[in-house]
Amino acid sequence: MGELSELFAPNRIAVVGATEREGAIGRAIMDNLIDEFDGEVVPVNPKYDELFGLQCYGDVGETNADLAVIVVPPKVVLPAMKSAGEAGIENVVVITAGFGETGSEGAAREQELRDIAEEYDLNVVGPNSLGIMNTDVGMNATFGPDMALDGNMSFMSQSGAFITAVIDWANDEDIGFKDIVSLGNKAVLDEADFIEAWNDDPDTEVIIGYLEGISAGREFIDSARDVTKDTPIVLVKSGKTDAGAQAASSHTGTIAGSDAAYEAGLEQAGVIRADSVQHLFDTARVLGDQPLPENKDVAVITNAGGPGVMTTDAIGESDLKMADFTDETLEAFSESLPAEGNIYNPVDIVGDADNARFKEALDVALADDNVGMALVLTCPTAVLDYNQLAADTVELQQEYDKPIAACFMGGERVDAASDVMKDAGIPNYFDPSRAVDGLEALSEYADIRQREYDAPTEFDVDRERARDILETVKERDETRLGVEAMELLDAYGIETPTGDIVDDPADALDVAERIDGDVVMKIVSPDILHKSDIGGVKVGVENEEVYDAYEDLITRAKNYQPDANILGVQVQEMVNLDDGVETIVGMNRDPQFGPLMMFGLGGIFVEILEDTTFRVAPVSEAEAEDMTKEIDAAPMLRGARGNDPVDIGGITETIQRLSQLVTDFPAILELDINPLVALPDGVKAVDVRLTVDPDEL
Ligand code: ADP
Ligand code: MG
Repeated sequence: MGELSELFAPNRIAVVGATEREGAIGRAIMDNLIDEFDGEVVPVNPKYDELFGLQCYGDVGETNADLAVIVVPPKVVLPAMKSAGEAGIENVVVITAGFGETGSEGAAREQELRDIAEEYDLNVVGPNSLGIMNTDVGMNATFGPDMALDGNMSFMSQSGAFITAVIDWANDEDIGFKDIVSLGNKAVLDEADFIEAWNDDPDTEVIIGYLEGISAGREFIDSARDVTKDTPIVLVKSGKTDAGAQAASSHTGTIAGSDAAYEAGLEQAGVIRADSVQHLFDTARVLGDQPLPENKDVAVITNAGGPGVMTTDAIGESDLKMADFTDETLEAFSESLPAEGNIYNPVDIVGDADNARFKEALDVALADDNVGMALVLTCPTAVLDYNQLAADTVELQQEYDKPIAACFMGGERVDAASDVMKDAGIPNYFDPSRAVDGLEALSEYADIRQREYDAPTEFDVDRERARDILETVKERDETRLGVEAMELLDAYGIETPTGDIVDDPADALDVAERIDGDVVMKIVSPDILHKSDIGGVKVGVENEEVYDAYEDLITRAKNYQPDANILGVQVQEMVNLDDGVETIVGMNRDPQFGPLMMFGLGGIFVEILEDTTFRVAPVSEAEAEDMTKEIDAAPMLRGARGNDPVDIGGITETIQRLSQLVTDFPAILELDINPLVALPDGVKAVDVRLTVDPDEL
């Protein structure tokens, strides 16, 4: 493993704040280390000369350790770190709490901790950490009650309590770990550092984690993309979020919430997300133990009709499919199976099947090139020996090196068989849907490894003009911009209808006369967020009606809010909505992941329909294109019910251009183009709304 190898496998550990006092954390850590650690443990406490029969030092700087675990009160943590740094100890685990999690004094202390870490180039875990473990060298540098078993997954958790619960359970389940780290406040080392380190560690086959948030989302995506080429990452995320830091005034902001960013970010990073602890471990184990499938096609071999149907259903709901067997396979099945069996998938070898028939059927299925993986599904019968079937399954799995999940249904009679398979890395579940989930995770990871991540396209844009438009918020002492900022889109090559903003009805008529056909007129005011809600949008206005429409729009705005700042009325070319689809392209800035792009079905009902999808910007062309395919209404874009397909390429390009705009200008906090009307021969942004932070400009 890379730079952090010494952190997890030190030779000499100093425990700063060691004590023999019952109930003290300094005691618990000493006990845990003395128990099993292969190297030396050195207690540090100026009050004693000896502790646990070991020589006790007054200062960590004298210990010659390569890892310092610090459990002293908050005020003395920093001097201890300095002393460690001076003495050349590079690895520090700060167990002590009372830092960033406790208010402004703690936050200031955490900043100092960071400064010291920087000055001495320290690898710091925590503060506010349960500690770290490594089963290779028997290091339990935590104050938890149990040591983990050894295994091939490494585990990071933002909750220390969760680690103790997981170890307790995993020990019962015979699940082991390589390294474990309680991240604590992540003042210095965060999730990205650990995934990178574990990627370099030959003994870590799978990285798992429990996270409440990600410190620097975009950086995490970029490192995870690298890591997941070789090492799968499975994360479970708790509901705790940092959302709502700023009240959203855009549709995108309202719909996004913060889980959208997390979900999109992890997907883009190639991380597999688990939705429960059981799912986390099911997935991690199968990824750690089984080969990856060459395709998504599953053969189901069973002696039980009903469960066979359940399994077929579960596969139907997954990304996997039931394999189509080759003619040779079908022939082989017809020869070996009784007439009442089923030679097609799911292969029903019938309830009277003995071990020989089961083994042969599995052998035939695995030999078929169309079969990427197999699911052995069985119910107990008098003629079938589960232990023998387990041994046969293991043998064939090793022979063909294709992934297998087992579903030996039953109670205690399954235990011995299950153990045999577990030792060979074949998971056994009662529930077919869990077995299918396991195979699906393998297939998902096989796809992730194949992924290519393209760089975002750089369009030729007019950045200066965009800046000038954004700067207008300063003059106006406002943070919101509406259709008066349409030119911002022009500057980034996003097409808008012709039109102008006027503050006089005669000028409105002038503009209308220059535009072919009827026009659309809209009130322009930073105080009116949703114009149509107050009748502030008039569609299909004839030239004769322009005067009256103008007066009416102004009156409506004043009735709605007498002191509204009214900038005028926009007169705009009318776009033919009958041929097009109203979509929304937007961005909301997420506190962890930064600019989050949204695409969806647009118009005034966007929040009711919520047919949307998200990506963290900047997005590549392929990512933008995927967004257009992901919404439920995607078939409408491709031309439904006799309509012509719309310009999906135009939508894809608009998403990318907007992604470039919001990446170029961190000052844009949120932005909606709603609707972006997608027509058969192009796209048009007919409305825009954004919030700008003038201090970021
Ligand atoms: P708001 O979202 O503030 O209510 P919009 O400018 O988006 O205002 O207008 C609301 C709706 O009016 C749009 O969703 C669209 O259906 C219609 N509309 C707006 N501008 C045009 C236009 N130029 N051509 C055709 N329809 C339009
Ligand atoms: Mg709108």
